[in-house]
Amino acid sequence: MSSEAQQAIAHEQQNPDPPAFVGAEELNSDGTPLSDKQRRKRAEKAEKERVKAEKAARLAQEQATRQAAEVDFAEGNYGVLPMNQSKERVNVQLFSIEDIHPDKDGRQITLQARLQTTRAPSAKLAFITLRQNVHCVQATLAQAPEKVSRQMVKWAASITPESIVRVEGTIAKVPKPIESPSVTIKDAEIKIARIYIEVPVTWEGQIPFYVDDATRSDADIEASQNTPRPLPPIALDTRLDNRVLDLRTPTNQAIFRMSHGVGKLFREFLENNGFIEIHTPKLQGAATESGASVFKLGYFKGEAFLAQSPQLAKQMAIAADFGRVYEIGPVFRAEDSNTHRHMTEFIGLDLEMAFQEHYHEVTDLLNHLFLYIFSELPKRYAAEIAAIKRQYPVEEFLVPRQPVMLDFKEGIQILRDAGCEVEDLDDLSTEMERTLGRLVREKYHTDFYALDKFPLAVRPFYTMPDANDANYSNSYDFFMRGQEILSGAQRVHDAKFLEQRLAGAGIDPSSMKHYVDAFRLGAPPHAGGGIGLERVVMLYLGLGNIRRASMFPRDPKRLEP
Ligand code: ATP
Repeated sequence: MSSEAQQAIAHEQQNPDPPAFVGAEELNSDGTPLSDKQRRKRAEKAEKERVKAEKAARLAQEQATRQAAEVDFAEGNYGVLPMNQSKERVNVQLFSIEDIHPDKDGRQITLQARLQTTRAPSAKLAFITLRQNVHCVQATLAQAPEKVSRQMVKWAASITPESIVRVEGTIAKVPKPIESPSVTIKDAEIKIARIYIEVPVTWEGQIPFYVDDATRSDADIEASQNTPRPLPPIALDTRLDNRVLDLRTPTNQAIFRMSHGVGKLFREFLENNGFIEIHTPKLQGAATESGASVFKLGYFKGEAFLAQSPQLAKQMAIAADFGRVYEIGPVFRAEDSNTHRHMTEFIGLDLEMAFQEHYHEVTDLLNHLFLYIFSELPKRYAAEIAAIKRQYPVEEFLVPRQPVMLDFKEGIQILRDAGCEVEDLDDLSTEMERTLGRLVREKYHTDFYALDKFPLAVRPFYTMPDANDANYSNSYDFFMRGQEILSGAQRVHDAKFLEQRLAGAGIDPSSMKHYVDAFRLGAPPHAGGGIGLERVVMLYLGLGNIRRASMFPRDPKRLEP
């Protein structure tokens, strides 16, 4: 009730109606009786006040009645739930958006989801997009007698995006496919009966961007610029600064499920081929291996280095007779490379294997490992690949029926035939690698191939020279879409020869005593390779930047979040 109305009622109680007849005892202040005129005036004034008070009382009464009639009949059907402190366990069966299908028309469900967007075309109707990972569904909340009140619609339409909501409702077939690009369930929706906020968003001010906007392709953003609702482009740095929000996009949900898939398939294939998983230390006492620089850090009173690969340890595991080993672990590179394909920390998929006669036993296994990964990914992750392609459209990744493996010399010849100037024994520049990738695609119809027998001079000291031409070596790189994803070789397993190679590279063998000792104890001939997980994911999906394939990327300019 308004304060005006309350005042009116109080006034009425304190000032009951004046008597109709004013008694003779009414006198003027000097004791003389009131004249007729005075009496009439007083009576008129009293009557006016009575009428006014009556009117105010009537208005107040009407307002109170109206408010009583407006009590929200739906107030139990919405609201903010208390913080979950694991008070009870009632085993509610929560439904997955993925399983919503027109066949289930009429089925009552309860689900928990992120609220992605709300839109209220009128005071009686709200459209809400609900999201679970890569799946989004439209939910409608329409005013309905005794069930959904106007207040409920208003409240739901104002829920902050990204809140976690619990929704109870009914699956409903829709007469025509839902057009909204962010909705993945096109032929059914949820009719909401109850909606509660389970976890609110308490971010101060507006969140940095909306997940819906962060899921749009560059083409969509560009096309929208001349429309009444231009989409905001969201820079990679803004995304990485707010990575948790960014990771919620269906595209990122799909990318990291694919990344998990690559690791899982790598592991699966190797497990089926007699490998065991090992874990090698990332803290090292010396900055050993050649090439990439290492990070130095304080180690009690001395210093330590972060492993730039598990190279030495995995070879030592071979010397220790483990035969076939692999590791999935972090690799650190202190290189100030600010490119689309370098990070200072990445995940290495490494393997090492003793062979019987020839290192091509290992390149064969590597080729089949990749063909296995490439054949399983589209079978197991079709929905994810489709979701990623919507934001990052890319040419289909061509996989050969049989492995394509060219000698380095053949690669050089292909480049020369295409008019490129390249030296016989130089390493390939990134540009040359890309050009060769394009030429190999045209010639062999593949985006995956390997180059074998690199010049010895461009490979590390532990690489076995080619038996027929000491300028070359038993080493190989594998490529996807013309960019390197694997580097490997037959390793020098003879201790004496290893010492010579170390000396040739200007490395004091005593600085690698434990490594060299492993070979003095006798190690079988072996070969292996190291793969960058994020490069495989980036190139398979055509993401254009390795940071998009790393959950929390580290590069020379980024150590957070
Ligand atoms: P590149 O020539 O591309 O810099 P590299 O020759 O230094 O690579 P290796 O040291 O042989 O690479 O590492 C093996 C694999 O690890 C590479 O083929 C690549 O997939 C991955 N890799 C190497 N360096 C990086 C890096 N800085 N960031 C991400 N992945 C990397």
